[in-house]
Order: sequence, then structure tokens, then C-alpha cells
Amino acid sequence: MLYQSTRNKNLTATSTQAVLHGLAPDGGLYVLPDLKALCFDWRAALKQDVRGMAASILGALLPDYENMPELVRRAYDGKFETDELTPLVKVGDDYVLELFRGPTSAFKDVALSMLPQLMTAARKQEKLDDEIVILTATSGDTGKAALAGFCDVEGIKILVFYPDQGVSAVQKAQMVTQEGSNVGVCAIRGNFDDAQTGVKTVFSRAENEKLLEGKGVRLSSANSINIGRLAPQVVYYFKAYADLVKQGRIEIGDKVDYVVPTGNFGDILAGYFAKELGLPVGMLVCASNANDVLTEFIRTGRYNRVRPFHKTYSPSMDILVSSNLERLLFYVSGGDDAKIADLMAQLKENGEYQVDDTMLCSIQAQFWAGCCDDKATQETIGKVWKDCGYLCDTHTGVAWTVAQQYKNERTGSAPVVVLSTASPYKFPVAVLDAIGEDASGDEFAVMDRLYDATKVPVPQQLANLRSCAVRHTDVIDRETILDYVLNKVSRKDWF
Ligand SMILES: *Cc1c(COP(=O)(O)O)cnc(C)c1O
Repeated sequence: MLYQSTRNKNLTATSTQAVLHGLAPDGGLYVLPDLKALCFDWRAALKQDVRGMAASILGALLPDYENMPELVRRAYDGKFETDELTPLVKVGDDYVLELFRGPTSAFKDVALSMLPQLMTAARKQEKLDDEIVILTATSGDTGKAALAGFCDVEGIKILVFYPDQGVSAVQKAQMVTQEGSNVGVCAIRGNFDDAQTGVKTVFSRAENEKLLEGKGVRLSSANSINIGRLAPQVVYYFKAYADLVKQGRIEIGDKVDYVVPTGNFGDILAGYFAKELGLPVGMLVCASNANDVLTEFIRTGRYNRVRPFHKTYSPSMDILVSSNLERLLFYVSGGDDAKIADLMAQLKENGEYQVDDTMLCSIQAQFWAGCCDDKATQETIGKVWKDCGYLCDTHTGVAWTVAQQYKNERTGSAPVVVLSTASPYKFPVAVLDAIGEDASGDEFAVMDRLYDATKVPVPQQLANLRSCAVRHTDVIDRETILDYVLNKVSRKDWF
């Protein structure tokens, strides 16, 4: 089965090509037209350890790779705090799936440890001589995880753009201190959508105006629009399910509900993929902060990005245009590429679209949505700490809050797994304040006080940050991203 663009089924690619290109040439996203048709042996996958699971799932979703088990081994060996990669922890009556035990303390490590392996292997298999330049817009966590993943990978360079007012001090310090001779980091004046729109424009103009022809360079993306980012995330839905079976909480075949703190819709879409591959996923609960565009969409079928943008304590979810939703729309429309092209054109031109009833019914049968503001998030963090002795970050706090909303409304009683996407030490100010301590002053001092108050260990790589030198200081306007990229590309040495 070939990948195709969500907007035009004639634009096809193998999985290695899809990983190399990132975005389809018409601006659509690469999808396999029918995931169920893969006839994935999900029961067999559940019996494997997490690396075996990863090799099976990635092998099914990305069938053109020659040696997936070896790529998986290289991606994860020695990089995570635990061999399990993503431990499942019981907290109160529910479960927290800790996705932040990787090298940069964010869930994006799961995928961005894998993507460089997928890209280098694809480059070899496709016999590509061109150097790959990865362009990434980040709301904070992708940037650092991508920099860490791609640092000094041969044949690949990476440029990360982050909103200058949109990330926490710790997140910023993580990025601007990044080592490596193939990396660049640049702040954009504006919010995440400015950065993301700017990067999308570079891709489309470079392609349409052939700006890189003959330069020996090709652009690609590490955002979750890249299928190589999405596929590794499917694994932890299986891993959590297998853990519940092992712990005797469920029998194979029972449903499990997953609550996902959502921004670009990549994490939760991986849950949908897991379900399409056969995993008995119950409801996928989409949790949003005050930027509630997805809550409205899942409840009404109307997507409207024309609304105020809120800066919140969960900045990785401060998003108005959730790119990966396009893939879900594709599947629930029965693969109607013309319809998706039309909806995306409406979004671009009018800032909104409405899906038809058939699509909405299919979405509502599988997704539930809720949102909460910063105040509720902090109350939850305080309560979970006090009642259960578990310290969670702000994104997880949003998910936990929405999980309780969901449990109050649902009729079933399936186990609830809350996906935890960041270490509390990445957002120490909001977290320390939430547990009722004084959170004024420098963010690194706050980190120390958070440790003193809770004795939850600080991830080593975050503790070390304050002694690292700043290496990246560029700040530019969104309109000049293209010039910035072309200038960088024309220079051989970046450092
Ligand atoms: C990226 C991110 C999210 C949102 O994930 P999406 O795949 O963009 O929906 C949530 N929490 C944290 C901490 C993140 O870094």
C-alpha cells in the first residue's frame, strides 16, 4: 500500500519517500488510505516487549524500511530513563502514562528519537545525495526534542523556529544552548501559529518557485505532519494497554479510554491509528486548554480558527490550527480527497469550515472533548499532589481535569489512561504555584524550590541547563523566515 496526499489520491509516495518529504507536494499530509487493510496482528504485538512492539507497529505503518528492529534499537538504546521507555503509573483510580522519560523530558522524545533513524535510513534506501535541511516550528517541546534527535546526524541539518514570547524560560534555555555543528535556532516575533505559518510558507514557496534547485539541498519537516513522527507514537498506546493486561486490570479485548492533552492533534491521532490497527481503544478524549477550538469542533463539527489566541500555562497546546486533524478528516470522510482539499481551502480562505453529519457522527463515536483554563489546571495539579502524592506538569493537569469531566459524563467504566506529556520541571513556576508555594523569581531558583517542596527528582538534563552557554540568539519577523532559510542554506558551515 502506498501513501497518498490527503488532498489528492494521485500524489503517492512510498513510506521512505513520505518520511523524506514530510509534506505532500500539494500541501496535503501523507496517509495510508486504509489502515484496517493492513490486517495488523495486534494481539501478537501486545505480547512483545516495547522494542518488539515498536518494530512490529512501525514495520506495518512504514513497510518499505529494510531493518526496523535495528533502527528501533539505535533510536532508544540508552537514551531513556527506563528500558520500558513509557511507564504506566497508577494514580488514584486512574493511570498516568509517563511519556516524558526521554532525553529532553517531553513526550516528543518518543518520536524524535526515532525520526532521525527513519530519515537517515530513507536517505540511504532512496540513494539521495542531497543534504536534508529540517525546518521545524515549535511551541516549545518539539524544538528541543528535534535538536537533540538530529544533533550531528550526518547528511542532515536542522533549523528550529520558536515564538519569542511563547515558550517557558526552561524551554528556551533548552533550545538556545543546543550543541552541535548542524543545528540552528531562531526566535520569531509572534505566537506559535506565526512560526508554523511562516515555516509552511517556506515549504510551499521553495517548492513552487524552485528556490533550492541545483543547490544540493532538500527541505523536510520534523513536525508531526511528518508520518515518521506520528508512527512511533502509536507504540505507547499498545504499551499502556499491555501493561494493564499484565497488571490484571483488564483482559485482552476489553476497552481502555485514553485522555490526551492536545495541540497539533498528533498525539491523539496516534491513538486513532492504534485503534485502526485493532487495539481495543474505547474513547479518545481530546483535552484542550483555554484555546478550545478542538472542543468546539468535536462537539459541533465547526472548526473556526478566527478567535482570540490565549497564552496559557500549557504552551505546547496553545494552537489554533491543529494540522493533524486533516488526517482524521480524511479517514472519517472515507478517504474523500476532493472533500478534504475543499475543507482545507475554506480554512485557509475563510478561517473556518463545517463538516457534514456523517463525518461528525463518526468523530463523535470515537472522540470526546473537553477544555479547562489555567485556574482549573492549577487546582487539579494541587489536588493530585495533595490527594495522591503525584506531581504532574501543566499539560497533564489539563488532561487530568478533562478526564474527570469525562468520567462524570460517560456511562461506561473502562480504565482511564491519562497521557502525561512533560516533566513538571519544564514548567516549574506554574507547578510550584499550583501546590501552594511561592513561585516568584528566577525560573531555575523556582526549580530548586519545587524540588525542596516535593523531593521529586529533577531530570539531570534540566538541572544541568543553567551552566550551559547560550549559542543561538537570532530573532526575526515571520515575513523574513524564507530569506533567513535561504541565507542559511547557502552557507556551508553553520558553526
Ligand atoms: C506537543 C505537546 C502536546 C501536544 O501534542 P500534539 O501532538 O501537538 O497534540 C502536549 N503536551 C506537551 C508537553 C507537548 O510538548
